[in-house]
Amino acid sequence: MKRTVIITGASRGIGKAAAELFARHGDHVLINYRHSEEMAHALVNNLKNQGYSAACFQADVSKRREVDLMVEFCREKFGKIHVLVNNAGISESKLFTDITEEEWDIMLNTNLKGVFNCTQSVLKQMIPQKEGVIINVSSIWGLAGGSCEVHYSAAKAGIIGLTKALAKEVGPSNIRVNCVAPGVIQTDMMNGYDETTLEELKNQTPLLKLGQARDVASAIFYLASEEARFITGHVLNVTGGFVV
Ligand code: NAD
Repeated sequence: MKRTVIITGASRGIGKAAAELFARHGDHVLINYRHSEEMAHALVNNLKNQGYSAACFQADVSKRREVDLMVEFCREKFGKIHVLVNNAGISESKLFTDITEEEWDIMLNTNLKGVFNCTQSVLKQMIPQKEGVIINVSSIWGLAGGSCEVHYSAAKAGIIGLTKALAKEVGPSNIRVNCVAPGVIQTDMMNGYDETTLEELKNQTPLLKLGQARDVASAIFYLASEEARFITGHVLNVTGGFVV
């Protein structure tokens, strides 16, 4: 069956890898982006040129009105929405005592309220249709806590709580809610890390390598698949063993 999949923050990194994976398996993919219009359009054109089904839509996930417009656009373009991947996120390395109130709000509004906005908007369609899958992208720091990333860790831990609670609430409507918790993945988000730190992180990983965007995309794809039909409220670590 051809599914319709919304992926937030999908013009690059993990979201892009997930969009390519779903599209290659024949699904309709709605690629959400905030600022990267050129990259999002290039991705859509690339997928369409290969015969796949894709479209993109600009929306800041922290803004409810923009999210509602995106969900409406997706429904009009592709019909019933089957899968939502809440991937959009930001990170920042900072001492807790230096985090300003504004920085705290931006982090929480993007990484946690964004998940609330997109999920609630999509659920308005999934609950009546009694079918749907939601995959949230948390982080190992949401599980283990990351020093100098307290606001990021708090938001990502919030996503885990949201995932578990919502899985219980919407399970009777045949909607599954799961979460992936990536470890250190080589995307643009890691650009701020110097070579020495990345080498140290690699050496602390039992598989002795850093993750790639496609490693997380595969976990997302699995959780969204029929093969995972009895799995809900789960947090799937994708860390190479960094957190076990
Ligand atoms: P990335 O920076 O390449 O991708 C994040 C995407 O989210 C970007 O395209 C960005 O523009 C988009 N985005 C940010 N704020 C947005 C907003 N308000 N509205 C819409 N889009 C927005 O990094 P990535 O590594 O691909 O990150 C994807 C997800 O994986 C994030 O949630 C991140 O926290 C999580 N994650 C990444 C790592 C890692 O090591 N790279 C580890 C754990 C978790």
